[in-house]
Amino acid sequence: MKVYLDTVGCRLNQSEIETLARQFQQAGHDVVTSASEADLCVVNTCAVTREATRSSRNVIRRLNRLNPGAEIVATGCYAHLSPDQVSTLPGVKRIVNNLDKERLVPLVVQSDSAQAGFDREPVEREFTPGAMGRTRAFVKVQDGCDNRCTFCVTTIARGPARSRPTDDIVREIQALAQTGYQEAVLTGVHLGSYGYDQGDRDGLASLVQSVLDQTCISRLRLSSLEPWDLAPDFFALWSNPRLCRHLHLPLQSGCDTTLRRMARRTTQAAFRGLVEAARSRIPDLAISTDMIVGFPGETDAEFDASYDFVRQMDFMKLHVFRYSRRAGTAAARMPDQVPDAVKKARSARLLALSDDGVRRFYARFVGREMPVLWEQITGSSDAGFRNTGLIDNYIRVEMDAPAVLTNTITIVRLAAVTEHGMRAEGISAPR
Ligand code: SF4
Repeated sequence: MKVYLDTVGCRLNQSEIETLARQFQQAGHDVVTSASEADLCVVNTCAVTREATRSSRNVIRRLNRLNPGAEIVATGCYAHLSPDQVSTLPGVKRIVNNLDKERLVPLVVQSDSAQAGFDREPVEREFTPGAMGRTRAFVKVQDGCDNRCTFCVTTIARGPARSRPTDDIVREIQALAQTGYQEAVLTGVHLGSYGYDQGDRDGLASLVQSVLDQTCISRLRLSSLEPWDLAPDFFALWSNPRLCRHLHLPLQSGCDTTLRRMARRTTQAAFRGLVEAARSRIPDLAISTDMIVGFPGETDAEFDASYDFVRQMDFMKLHVFRYSRRAGTAAARMPDQVPDAVKKARSARLLALSDDGVRRFYARFVGREMPVLWEQITGSSDAGFRNTGLIDNYIRVEMDAPAVLTNTITIVRLAAVTEHGMRAEGISAPR
C-alpha cells in the first residue's frame, strides 16, 4: 500500500508522524511524498488553537481534492477531541484517537483489529511505549511455553519455555529507571512459568522481590499470568506498594467442559479460589481477563455457563476474541466449528458485560485520592493541557492542568467517571 503522511501543529506531532512513517515502512508499505499517488493518507491533526483546527480541516480537504480515491485516516488532538466534526470531512474513513495512536498502523492495516491482538500480551496491546516519552518500559523476562492449549499457535512458534537470568533483568530495569522510566512491565509468553526451566517453581515471586529490592523503579507491573501458576501466598508480594494492583488472569472460557477441550489447566472452582485469595490480600485490585468465544463445539449452554461465571467474577475488564482457526493447532482440527454470526453475537454480549465492569469498577473510586503516572498530552483546554495517565490499578485518568505532567507521578482526587476513564483534580506536586 502507498501511504502519504501529513501533520499540523507542534514538534511532537512532527516526531509522531516520522515514527508512523518508519512503522508503515517496517510493515512493508511505501511512504510516498505526494498525496496524489497514495492509497491512504494519514493526517496528524492539532487543536491547540482555533486556527490549528482550521488548518487541520484545510489539510484534509486539500488531500481529498488532490486524490479523491484515497482513504483518509485522521488522528491527533483535533480528531481526538472532535471526532464527530472530523469524521464528516470529505474522504475521512477513520478516526484514531490519541490513546490508540501508537498502534495506528496495525489498526488501519488490519481490517479486524479484534483478531489482530489475539497472540499479544494484553498489557502490551493497550500500552505500547515509544513516541510519547519514557514512561513505561516492557521488559521481556522469558520466552516460550511448555503448555499445549489447543487453540494456541504461540507455543508452536516460540518453542519451549526458557527464562532470562535474574541478574540481567535487574540490571536492565535499574538502567531503565536511571534513564527516566517510571514503570517496568515484566512480560513473557508464559510469564508465570519464569524459573521453571531452572527447576524453580517460585521463580517469578523471587524475580519480583529482587526487582523491588535491587532497583529504584517507581512502579513494577506484571503482564498476563496463567491462573494455574499462582499460589495464594504469591499475593503477599503486594505488601510493597510499588507493585501495581492489577492482575490480568486469562480465563478464556468460564465453562469447565470448554476449558477441558481447550486444555486449560484451570476450572471454575480453582479460578474462583484464586480470585478470592487475590482480592482478600490486595485492596483496590483490578482483575481483567481474556475470553475466547466460539471455540469449536461451544454450545449455547456452554456459552451461557461461561457468561454466568464471568458475571460472577466481576472482572474490571474483558478482552474478547472470536475464535479463529490457527493452522497446526489441535483446535483447528476439531469438529463443530462455530459459525461467525454466533461468535459475533457472543462477543457482543461479553463486551457489554465488560463495559459494565469498567463503569462499576471506576465508580467505586469517585472521591478517592490516588497516585497517577502521567503518560501524555491528549489535548488542551482553557485550563491548559489535558494530561492523561494511569493509576497503578489500571484506571485511566484525565486532568486539565497548566503544566505538562508527562512522566511524573502526582496524587489526584478522582472527581467523576467520564467516557474515556476518570476526571481528576490535582492535589500534590509532581515527583
Ligand atoms: S499457556 Fe498461554 S502461551 Fe502457553 S499454550 Fe496456553 S495460551 Fe499458549
